[in-house]
Amino acid sequence: MSELKVYNSYTRQKEVFKPITPGHVGMYVCGPTVSGESHLGHARPYITFDVIYRYLMHLGYRVRYVRNITDAGHFEEEGREAEDKVSKKAMLEKLEPMELVQKYTNLFHWAMKQLNNLDPSIEPTATGHIVEQIDMIKKIIADGYAYEVNGSVYFDVKKYSEHHSYGKLSGRIVEDLLETTRTLEGQDEKRNKGDFALWKAAPPQHIMRWTSPWGQGFPGWHIECSAMSTKYLGTEFDIHGGGMDLQFPHHESEIAQSTICNNHMPARYWLHNNMITVNGRKMGKSYNNQIRLTEMFSGSHPLLAKGYSPMTIRFFILQTHYRSTLDFGNEALQGAEKGLKRLWEAYENLKKFTFPDNPTAKDNELDRKVVGLLDQLDEFMNDDFNTAKVLANLFELVPVINSIHDKHLSYDVLSTTTLDILKKYFHLYLEDILGLTSDNQGNDGKLNGVMNLLIELRKEARAKKDYATSDKIRNQLHQLGILLKDEKDGNVSFSVE
Ligand code: ZN
Repeated sequence: MSELKVYNSYTRQKEVFKPITPGHVGMYVCGPTVSGESHLGHARPYITFDVIYRYLMHLGYRVRYVRNITDAGHFEEEGREAEDKVSKKAMLEKLEPMELVQKYTNLFHWAMKQLNNLDPSIEPTATGHIVEQIDMIKKIIADGYAYEVNGSVYFDVKKYSEHHSYGKLSGRIVEDLLETTRTLEGQDEKRNKGDFALWKAAPPQHIMRWTSPWGQGFPGWHIECSAMSTKYLGTEFDIHGGGMDLQFPHHESEIAQSTICNNHMPARYWLHNNMITVNGRKMGKSYNNQIRLTEMFSGSHPLLAKGYSPMTIRFFILQTHYRSTLDFGNEALQGAEKGLKRLWEAYENLKKFTFPDNPTAKDNELDRKVVGLLDQLDEFMNDDFNTAKVLANLFELVPVINSIHDKHLSYDVLSTTTLDILKKYFHLYLEDILGLTSDNQGNDGKLNGVMNLLIELRKEARAKKDYATSDKIRNQLHQLGILLKDEKDGNVSFSVE
């Protein structure tokens, strides 16, 4: 079998993966900031690294997968002012940041479960590691690479770049950064524009604050990941992952901090997934296309023609290689929905195959073709986790499986060994490695069947102006957590909460 190769964003080439400690892999992936609900942009990195985690385990590695929760920083709830803390409001009326953190963390976990992502081995929180962050900042100051101004501490990028390369990962030129980077807050405190905050002094109205050697404040975002990755994976670990948008300044800053504190790069392999666009546009608040995952599942966002199941989204994401851009649009999603259904039906058919007692091993073209397609699956995954090619090969096998199932082909057209591998690989790849589940497609589509029947009965009731019955169907389904949505074209879709 071929060796696993990964594309290292730092060296910009595919490299053979060799873990630092044989048999073990340490992987750190930047987690969500839980100041709001998870959106589509969260689905891709966590599904990508979930598949990488699953595949590494499949290869026999013991993996420690660390994914943090960013829960320190600036937290506000819409319509509520951050000045709550200093106002005379009663304790329970004030904004309690941890309440928001808990709410959005719970929602994030719920969304990850829906998408069938495995839990990471450790999920450390920034607020739980303030001590480690302060220690690291002290060390950077002691080494002369950070300075304090008015209770805030900044990393000295100019000094760092005199001895180390800053900007290599993201391909930026340090001189440009020092000249052009603009941060509005605390701009005048910095020696150079490219310097980044390790610790920020908290203004009086800032409600999340901790005591530090530099006064009351809160940690910068980059230092949290350096502190937690070092604590749980050591000063040098195997894989650091995240979205491409995190390369600069986040990962670049992590590299600089660790290089000063630990004397070397934190990670050997830097893996980055590419970005998601919606109808060809970059996601952003100004475009109103940051679709929340709850809206995605229920179809309640104006850009969506209907709701898409978590498995449709997972499958859709895995149909494209993680380093390519991926555009979300209704047509493509509906294509993915159909594709997954087709693939899953073939898988269900395959599971029903029973082998003949006395097989004759065949040596024919079809048998060789099936073996060839299956053999390639490992090759594709070893080539920087190419899930897109894996799925393409599985699709090529669908007509073969269905023809045998429908008895258009006798199943001794394949040798017992081939049938055996076919079954094994479909299970291994679809469920264990790609992490797909039966979802709505499961139960042979029984839920869909029942729902279509109910939707039809409701339509008939409405046609007869029997609104008591049509409302009863809608309301009772709602109580069960199933939402009906009347579409513009007169069709009715449903989503399961
Ligand atoms: Zn991070």
